Amino acid sequence: MGDTTTPMVRMDGVQKWFGDLHVLQDIEFEVAGGEVVVVIGPSGSGKSTLCRAINRLEPINEGTIEIDGVPLPEEGKALARLRAEVGMVFQSFNLFSHKTVLENVTLGPIKVLGKSKSEAEQRARELLDRVGVGAQAGKLPSQLSGGQQQRVAIARALAMDPKVMLFDEPTSALDPEMIKEVLDTMVDLAKGGMTMVVVTHEMGFARTAADRVVFMADGRIVEQNTPDEFFTNPQSDRAKDFLGKIL
Ligand code: ADP
Ligand code: MG
Repeated sequence: MGDTTTPMVRMDGVQKWFGDLHVLQDIEFEVAGGEVVVVIGPSGSGKSTLCRAINRLEPINEGTIEIDGVPLPEEGKALARLRAEVGMVFQSFNLFSHKTVLENVTLGPIKVLGKSKSEAEQRARELLDRVGVGAQAGKLPSQLSGGQQQRVAIARALAMDPKVMLFDEPTSALDPEMIKEVLDTMVDLAKGGMTMVVVTHEMGFARTAADRVVFMADGRIVEQNTPDEFFTNPQSDRAKDFLGKIL
């Protein structure tokens, strides 16, 4: 575990149905430590479900998922512990509206990791500074812009010292002028060696920050490649069609 050959995330033979809808089909997916994987594909192709399966926000029907070599447990304390290793940032920031920015970031480390308040606050302030919202620590989320709130959400996830960070369309709810500040934060994280899985429509981010692009359609991983190869030379008709529509 934790060596360079164990993938940080491994999905093997994963199947997931919503009723009759086969939403994840034969998913084989690995993310190496330090790797940045961008997941793209049409709406409804299963990208969010894939992300949510990785920390069992969505149970799967078949297959196995491992985080750093450890199979995801079904439930209980072991699941909570392993889930803490997977940070997640959503389109909607999901901050606690009646808690300050600082409290939003310290809550998990105190409750789940058992950190002392002062230790948690020191780390939270470091992280808030790192994502550029240190001056907002005492405010309520509603007093911040959307871009600032999303950066707080990133700091909150980082405060749990995750082994991997999942981002599900983190900039889709933001006004255009705020998208860049969030993407810049994510690029910094990527450069710092964080293992990341990023669902996004921001092809500029995919081209510059991704080590690999994974293209999904109809619940399957249809193809994956380096961004250069994927964008200049897509193999499947589905990917060609998708890129033709968005580029
Ligand atoms: P994407 O993120 O690529 O847009 P999703 O993973 O959200 O796709 O959804 C994949 C498919 O599963 C879609 O057809 C969606 O309608 C369906 N789906 C997602 N969540 C649920 C759910 N909780 N119950 C039933 N169907 C769902
Ligand atoms: Mg989605």
